[in-house]
Amino acid sequence: MNDSIWTRPGSLAEKFWRDGKADIPIYDMHCHGGTNSSIYFKNGDMESMIQHMRSIGVRRTAFCHFYAQLGNWRNEEDYKICLRYPDFLRMYVVISPKFPEQVKEELASFDRWAPYAIGLKVLPDYHLLPLNDPAYEYALKFADERGLPVLCHTWGFSQYDGGAIMLEVAQKYPRIRFFIAHCIYGEWEYTRRIVTETPGNVWLDLTCIPGERNRIEELVSYAGSERVIFGTDLPWFDEYQAVGGVLSAKISEDDMKNILYRNVEKILGENW
Ligand SMILES: [Zn+2]
Repeated sequence: MNDSIWTRPGSLAEKFWRDGKADIPIYDMHCHGGTNSSIYFKNGDMESMIQHMRSIGVRRTAFCHFYAQLGNWRNEEDYKICLRYPDFLRMYVVISPKFPEQVKEELASFDRWAPYAIGLKVLPDYHLLPLNDPAYEYALKFADERGLPVLCHTWGFSQYDGGAIMLEVAQKYPRIRFFIAHCIYGEWEYTRRIVTETPGNVWLDLTCIPGERNRIEELVSYAGSERVIFGTDLPWFDEYQAVGGVLSAKISEDDMKNILYRNVEKILGENW
C-alpha cells in the first residue's frame, strides 16, 4: 500500500485522491448529455452533468447532445445550450450524412455559432454509412479547408468506422484534426497504424479506454502522449473513472498533463 501511486507525496494522483479534484486543467473532449431509453444516467441532464464535471476540476468540455446525434433536434439547440454555459461548453456540429441539404444548411451556420462550435462530429456506425462514402465529402472538405477537429465515433471491425476506413479517410484529409473516439476499440493494430501512418493529424480519444488494464501505457508507448486526448463520453462513463485511469497509468506526469490538457491547448489555443 505504501507504494501506491495514490499515496506518493506530491503526485497528481495523491492530490486527486485527497481533494477529489484535479489541480491541473482537464479538458473533456468528448461528452454528450440527454437521456437514453434503455439505460439510466445519473448525470444525464446538462446542469447536473456540468456541475459534476466542475466538481472534479474539468475546466471545459466539447459536447454534442444525444438528441443532436440521433436527429431528435438540430445543432442549433446545442448552440442554445452553449449560450447558457459560455465559459464551459463548446460543441461539435453533428453531421447527418443522409440529409445532405441539412448538412449544408448547418455548416452555413458554423461561423454564426462561433466561438462555441469548434469542429464536427461524425457517427458512421450510428448513421449506417461508412465514413468514406461520398455523402460525407462536403462536410469533410469543409473541415479540411479550415483545419477543424472532427470527432469520429469508431469501433473495431465496423463496416462503417472500423480501422481500414478510418485510416483511408485520415490519410485523405491531412488538415483535419481527427479525434478518434474509442481508439477503434478492439482493432488495436489499426489503433497503432492510424497514428503512425498519418501525417500528424490524428489524436486518440480515450473514451472507453481507462477501464482497460495497461491500454493507456500501450497507446503512449507507440503514439506518444502528444497524440492522446482525454474524453469520457459522459454520461456513459464517469469522470472519476476516466481521470483515475489516466492518473494511475504507468506513464510520466508530463504524459498525463499532455493527455489531460496540453495537447488540446496546442490544437485550439489556451482559451478555446
Ligand atoms: Zn460519444
